[in-house]
Amino acid sequence: MDMKSNHGAPVLTDPAPINKSRLGIPSNLLPYSPTGAAFSPSLHLTIPRKKPGKLDDVRASGWLDAMKASSPPRKKLTKDFNFEVVSDDTDVAYRIWTLKYPSALTSFEQITNYAKEKRIVLFLDYDGTLSPIVDDPECAFMSDSMRSAVRNVVKYFPTAIISGRSRDKVCEFVGLTELYYAGSHGMDIMGPVRHSVSDDHPNSIRSTDEQGKEVNLFQPASEFLPMIDEVFRSLVEITKGIKGAKVENNKFCASVHYRNVDEKVIVASWATVAQCVHDIIKDYPRLRLTHGRKVLEVRPVIKWDKGKAVEFLLESLALSNCGDVLPIYVGDDRTDEDAFKVLREGNRGYGILVSSVPKESKAFYSLRDPSEVMEFLKSLVRWKESSAL
Ligand SMILES: [Mg+2]
Repeated sequence: MDMKSNHGAPVLTDPAPINKSRLGIPSNLLPYSPTGAAFSPSLHLTIPRKKPGKLDDVRASGWLDAMKASSPPRKKLTKDFNFEVVSDDTDVAYRIWTLKYPSALTSFEQITNYAKEKRIVLFLDYDGTLSPIVDDPECAFMSDSMRSAVRNVVKYFPTAIISGRSRDKVCEFVGLTELYYAGSHGMDIMGPVRHSVSDDHPNSIRSTDEQGKEVNLFQPASEFLPMIDEVFRSLVEITKGIKGAKVENNKFCASVHYRNVDEKVIVASWATVAQCVHDIIKDYPRLRLTHGRKVLEVRPVIKWDKGKAVEFLLESLALSNCGDVLPIYVGDDRTDEDAFKVLREGNRGYGILVSSVPKESKAFYSLRDPSEVMEFLKSLVRWKESSAL
């Protein structure tokens, strides 16, 4: 596939070699191998995340700009006229930006033209994509109408929700079955049991969910689970004399909370907590310590992101080697760029960036906000239903 400009919109077309030569890199260096060797979790876990350098420098120096860009000026309400006037500059900048990242709604026909004879697989971010961004992350609820739109789209397309949040939390927010939930940036994936090849895939573990319903679990870092559990039990033991310390087993991360440990009590200070954690994990070179808000977190030393989650899910669902599969990923933030990059550079499918302000992205298309995401999902359903007639 290759990108071609057509009325300002990117279109995926065959054949692949054109794009590879344009990228100036041999096909075997592309991040995705179309030859599809048998899946090996270790293969994926050892892929370097990305070379340090230019991109990170750009990100570092661009943070302030990105923050400003994420806070566009409010719409003005004129005194004399009782209607809203959108800031001209903002509007013009956005419209210019959509020449590069056309709206997935206005370009819908191009997308579906390409998707003819193909099987669309949908990947959806949660926060800011299916739900509005809110001050309290515990209150990032999706609307009933969005839930209904997702429920309908799942009837026609394999769909996964990929979030940085824990899988349980995303499941709770969405509250739908028959789709894949990928929590912890895809390290913890749960999906419905289907009578297909995926049920027998070596990455799939049959389990039951909270309601006792059979599900498939896909956990690329599952080899770490016994280690995390062992460390969890050691941490419980070593901190049991520290008043206020609480150890939590988050499956892919053991967390030591010290919010309730009195900092002034010398024998049970935060430093003691830190020393205890250090004493345990020094014997585990494959684990590392990260700092959260009044919590120490012990997690696997693996490089994992949403791009790898997309690859892993396609592999696990036995869809990675199918030429007739078109992955579409919809997301709104920096962590979604890894997935956009995998789709773009692997010539696999479309990334759709959800943004109301201009941003550089690896996505092909854009949508302004979650309400447009909902409209896009509804359009997909209508298209599928009408094409089935
Ligand atoms: Mg998001």
